[in-house]
Amino acid sequence: MSRSSLSSNLKITVLVGGVGGAKFLVGLRELLPEPSQITALVNVGDDIWLHGLRICPDLDTCMYTLGGGVDKARGWGQADESWTVGEELARYNAIPDWFSLGDRDIATHLIRSQMLRAGYALADVTEALCARWKPGVRLLPVSNDRAETHVVVTDAETGNRQAIHFQEWWVRHRTNIPTHEFLNIGSDQAKPAPGVLTAIEEADVVLFAPSNPIVSIDPILAIPGVRGALRKTTAKVVGLSPIIGGKPLRGMADACLDVLGIETSAEAVGRHFGGRSEGGVLDGWLIHTGDTAEVLGVEVRSVPLLMTDPTTTAEMARQALDLAGI
Ligand code: GDP
Ligand code: CA
Repeated sequence: MSRSSLSSNLKITVLVGGVGGAKFLVGLRELLPEPSQITALVNVGDDIWLHGLRICPDLDTCMYTLGGGVDKARGWGQADESWTVGEELARYNAIPDWFSLGDRDIATHLIRSQMLRAGYALADVTEALCARWKPGVRLLPVSNDRAETHVVVTDAETGNRQAIHFQEWWVRHRTNIPTHEFLNIGSDQAKPAPGVLTAIEEADVVLFAPSNPIVSIDPILAIPGVRGALRKTTAKVVGLSPIIGGKPLRGMADACLDVLGIETSAEAVGRHFGGRSEGGVLDGWLIHTGDTAEVLGVEVRSVPLLMTDPTTTAEMARQALDLAGI
């Protein structure tokens, strides 16, 4: 199947987190003829208020990456960044002091926070920011409501259990702290953003990017209605494994899986999502060449899953569409 043999009416919906999700979207965008519609349902579990600013790491990573403005070495934040505001905050001993905010990035957060305070929904704010970045993909926060991932840990000083924001666990502690469980704070009350359920119901295919299963994909599935829509849609649902040869490609997905007692393997993550015929959400599961997996009710195929550049990533996306029968 070549780019030109794909229908230009294809509607593709992709569940994504940050860095892994954004890279995958670049490949998918490369594969598809215009004006196909790619809708990315973006995790909001990482979102946090800091210094009076609303930070949405996964939305921004997708926006900057697709918009050609990401810092490629880091994989997040803007290219050609400077850190003057952060240095000034440090001189005031402002807390938290473990989260870096670049000067250019802060402009994004200022606009977002201002618009949110004026009453705009996060999806509308995202659309406004995307007017500049032109990602070529519809970036839809999975919810306009606050639904944040918090992590129950044992505090080293007091010995007490307490819940901290995901960012504190990930960025400050680098996951190196006794950890007991993840909580999706606010998810049960959250509503899917307008268009989210329709994007699943009316898609020709739904894909799970090779994003962190526990802290990127699961918080999307935790928004009421999303899992039900995935189980009902007539589209095939195909996931791509972020775990290759028993390890995440980058990041600390293994630490997240450990917390839940899930093995770090493509098979275990496939089983975690589960087959649609078995009460889960997947019809197909793509794993990396050399890996093996058996997941009840799921068609598993192994193909190269390394996102080395947009062309190889486009080939991964093509394989996912092929598995979905497109
Ligand atoms: P985050 O929100 O920035 O952590 O990014 P995501 O959740 O979207 O993606 C993180 C996941 O991407 C990690 O678990 C990695 O294993 C996975 N990942 C990164 N690069 C690759 C790659 O080239 N291939 C595959 N299959 N997975 C990758
Ligand atoms: Ca993330």
